[in-house]
Amino acid sequence: MPSRTADRLPLSLSARVHDLHPSPIREILEVVGRPGMISFAGGLPAAETFPDFGLAAPDSALQYGPSEGDPALRERIALELAALGLDATPDRVLVLSGSQQGIDLVGKLFVDAGTPVAVESPTYLAALQVFRFFGARFLPFAPETVSADFFRDHRPALAYAIPTFQNPTGRCYTVAERAALAEACMASGVPMFEDDPYRDLVFDACDRRPVCAGIEGSPWIYQGSFSKSLAPGLRLGFLAASPELFTPLVRLKQAADLHSNRLSQWLVLQQLEAAGRPARLARLADFYRAKRDAFDAALRRHFGALADWQTPAGGLFFWLQLKRPVDTRLLLPAAIQRGVAFMPGEAFYASDAALGTLRLNFSHAAEDEMDTGLAKLAELVSAAP
Ligand code: PMP
Repeated sequence: MPSRTADRLPLSLSARVHDLHPSPIREILEVVGRPGMISFAGGLPAAETFPDFGLAAPDSALQYGPSEGDPALRERIALELAALGLDATPDRVLVLSGSQQGIDLVGKLFVDAGTPVAVESPTYLAALQVFRFFGARFLPFAPETVSADFFRDHRPALAYAIPTFQNPTGRCYTVAERAALAEACMASGVPMFEDDPYRDLVFDACDRRPVCAGIEGSPWIYQGSFSKSLAPGLRLGFLAASPELFTPLVRLKQAADLHSNRLSQWLVLQQLEAAGRPARLARLADFYRAKRDAFDAALRRHFGALADWQTPAGGLFFWLQLKRPVDTRLLLPAAIQRGVAFMPGEAFYASDAALGTLRLNFSHAAEDEMDTGLAKLAELVSAAP
């Protein structure tokens, strides 16, 4: 056969895939599996907290299903969202293949090349990655300074925020900050996209009322996840949205994956309906609170003189601000060599990264590992030029 290579059309990829960079988190997670590695990277819930599934799923769980999600699950989610004060009915609940999919669908819905998107900075790295992939231009905002005028002046297509136990900072908005953001969105008409995967991991009293529960007559999308409260491998999350946004989101979902895994949906429904659910959530909070406290104590021992931090009232992360502006990205290779992984803070900034920041996950390492790992990390920080 003569070679036909010359006749072949050149491979023609879309312009946007040129902006698709590998996730630094995924790269770090690869080294986390090495023997002896103590990991403060990633946001892996502890495997001991995962539910014990006894499988007795109906056949329907193996058949194609509705794009919006299984009706019984949507109904159950809508009930829980309504109890949080959200204007959510089952017909405006969309089951997602992980809440990460919600970010992707919302990016597709709003973002073209050059579209301004208002984000906290720092914020969730993989949300920045998705919005950036669609061409977003970031407009950093902080809950204490946001206003309708700021939104009117800069005209973002949407505002993305994680008001409860933020990733990466662990911060939880005050009642006043929640009200101010809702008010700014309503007065300017900027759609609010609230990402709320950590709300069930609550250790200390704090206001967790969704910002979207304070929005009326203005577009909003609220999303949650079963990754932290049940298990991330199920790949299930959900969103609820105001009426004008719901239909296009369902169409995008259809185009993306037809519907989410029905076996997972069935498993989650069993867990949500289980009589022991409130007790399970309380145990989950107790388990992680103890981890948070142990990590806080170990931090005070090793980082008391080196860094400042706020003890998070929930979620999975401590956010450290070093007293010296060390570029923590430069510390990572040496840390990994010594068997400790962490996330340099710089990657979480939409622009103008602050130096000397680290995100430390406290849910994965055992208590003795916390001590060993933080001692090694503190040594590196102290020795940094
Ligand atoms: N949003 C935030 C803020 C997150 O931290 C995460 C996971 N770390 C997600 C969304 C995605 O979670 P999942 O797809 O597992 O629901």
